[in-house]
Amino acid sequence: MEEYLKKRLKSVDYKTRRKIEKLFKEMNESISLLFDIATRDEKTGLYNDKFFNTELEMEIEKAQRGKQKLSLVITDIDYFKKINDKYGHIKADELLYKLAKVIQKQIRKSDIAARFGGEEFVILLPETSLTKAKKLCIRLRNAIHKDKVLKKHGLTVSGGITQFRKKDNKKAFKSRSDKALYQAKKQGRDEFVVLG
Ligand code: GH3
Ligand code: MG
Ligand code: MG
Repeated sequence: MEEYLKKRLKSVDYKTRRKIEKLFKEMNESISLLFDIATRDEKTGLYNDKFFNTELEMEIEKAQRGKQKLSLVITDIDYFKKINDKYGHIKADELLYKLAKVIQKQIRKSDIAARFGGEEFVILLPETSLTKAKKLCIRLRNAIHKDKVLKKHGLTVSGGITQFRKKDNKKAFKSRSDKALYQAKKQGRDEFVVLG
């Protein structure tokens, strides 16, 4: 609640004050819920592509203006079709959720992880150099290998890592990481390729 409102509330009787405070709490919870519905992917709880694209545009502007580094990782589950065929859709959906949790655990609060529909995940890393992005991907790959459930179902991911270049636009930036991902797939999967 805003400071000036808190001050005004002090002059209100106890019962009314409690009522107002309760209403504020409920309103904030509703706003937060609506915000989540609008910005998050239902299946995994990660951000959705719409929110991601808006954030990407903002971070690109920042990177163009300043000296801040900006890295991008695109990952795609390996042979997810086979996993669906072998274990069924419900189990495969559970694995999507589990993978999202593993990703979330490895990143910082300021990083933005999103699900791009299907079995593709993107991670935007503001103020992060390519070296740091690589380290994160090594950690992520290890965490996926170590996770009992993902391991049991043979789930691995491939990924492409890139860093924003001053002359990039959104499309060029994204397509370079896509290209890196494609290379990772071509090289045999379960690895991350860097295209600086
Ligand atoms: P690759 O290593 O080349 O990426 O192989 P792949 O099988 O992962 O790729 P492909 O594009 O051939 O198939 C993607 C599969 O992902 C197809 C679809 O069944 C599955 N998939 C996409 N979205 C979902 C989802 O939300 N839930 C489930 N259970 N499966 C999904
Ligand atoms: Mg795919
Ligand atoms: Mg795939």
